[in-house]
Formats: sequence, C-alpha cells, structure tokens
Amino acid sequence: MTALLLSALAMTLIVGLRYLAVSGGFALATRAARPGLYAKLTPQIRREIGWSLASAAIYGVPAGVVAWGWQARGWTLIYTDVHAYPLWYLPLSVLAYLLAHDTWFYWTHRWMHRPRPFRLAHAVHHASRPPTAWAAMAFHPLEALTGALVIPVLVFVIPIHVAALGIVLAIMTVMGTTNHMGWELFPHWMREGPVGNWLITATHHQRHHDRYNGNYGLYFRHWDRLFGTDLGLGRFD
Ligand SMILES: [Zn+2]
Ligand SMILES: [Zn+2]
Repeated sequence: MTALLLSALAMTLIVGLRYLAVSGGFALATRAARPGLYAKLTPQIRREIGWSLASAAIYGVPAGVVAWGWQARGWTLIYTDVHAYPLWYLPLSVLAYLLAHDTWFYWTHRWMHRPRPFRLAHAVHHASRPPTAWAAMAFHPLEALTGALVIPVLVFVIPIHVAALGIVLAIMTVMGTTNHMGWELFPHWMREGPVGNWLITATHHQRHHDRYNGNYGLYFRHWDRLFGTDLGLGRFD
C-alpha cells in the first residue's frame, strides 16, 4: 500500500516537474524568438499553470498505479527486453500509440465542444486566448481525467518497449506544449508540404483556438479530414 501511494506521488511529481521544465523551456524560447508575445498575458499564464498542476495529479495518479502494478505485480504489456518483439515493431508500436491516442482525443474533444460539456469542462482550456506554452495541460479536472486514462489503458492492450513508451510520452509533451505556444516551430516547407498535410502542428491547432468548430485532432489530420472538420492551417501575425 505504501509503495502504491509513493508511486502515485512520485509520478505526480514527475508529471508536474516535466510540465514546468518543458513549458518553462518553451516559454523561454518564446521570449527569445517572439519577444513580448506573452507580455500582457501574466494573469492568464498564472491560471494556465494552476490548472496544469492540478492536471499533473490527475495524470500522475493512474500512471503511478499502473507503474506500481508493472513493477510489483507484472501488470501491463510493457517490456524491457528489446528482442522480445522484432525490432521493426519498435517504431510501429510508437505509431500505434499515437494513432490510438489521437483517435480517442479527436472524438472526446469533438464531443466536448457540444454546449453542455463545453460549459462544464472544456471552456477552461479555451479560456486561454491566445494560449501560451503554459497551456499544455490547462484542462478542467474532468477533461484531464479523460486524457489521463488513455496511456494507462493502452499499456494493457498494445505491447510496447519501455523506451518506446518514453518516446510516446516525449512526443505527447512536446507537441502538447508547442501546439499552444503561439508561434510555429516547424519550418515552412514542413508544415505547408506533405508532412503538414497529415501532421498537426501549432499552425493547425491555433485555428482550433480561433474558431472552435473544427481542427479537433491531436497529432494527425485524418479524422478531421474524413469527417469534414478540418479548417486548414491558421496564421500567426
Ligand atoms: Zn488546445
Ligand atoms: Zn477545443
């Protein structure tokens, strides 16, 4: 029991510190790349940090329980021997996690734009206008909960090497931050070319925060494309 509680607490701390480090890092990068972009947003940033740290506990507790079960009880399909599956499975598993998370996110996010769930929960995320690098985890606790369960459930369904899982979490953290930071990190040729046609970066998610009624995806544009909710790329002044 103590080990379980410690694991939940440790994971909460890790998620919280990871948030502060990554969002803090990109906020500093913003100060260098776009001086003054966050100049008038101090009260909003304070709220973004508050909601995000609350989300850290909501993400941390299920992750900590699963990490404990993995170590103490042999739960999950997370493996440590890199040869337990063929090597080609490593990138495939990363892609499978991203596709599954994106699917879950697209449909729950789209649902949260219905009037009631929007008022109840998702309005917190859209209170950031425009969002900043600190808004990466700025969600109402109910919304944070819908996101917090994805990876802890997936590790019981899709086998993944522990390092590949680390890559998934790193992509999740960096994209969650950069998509909100108010300027585009990726070069023009990438976001206007075939890569940007299928992958979501800040230019795409910025338009979601502008218009609300489309661009619901997380990593990929195919669900938005298939269901007619893709609004195209936004613009940064
Ligand atoms: Zn957003
Ligand atoms: Zn939204």
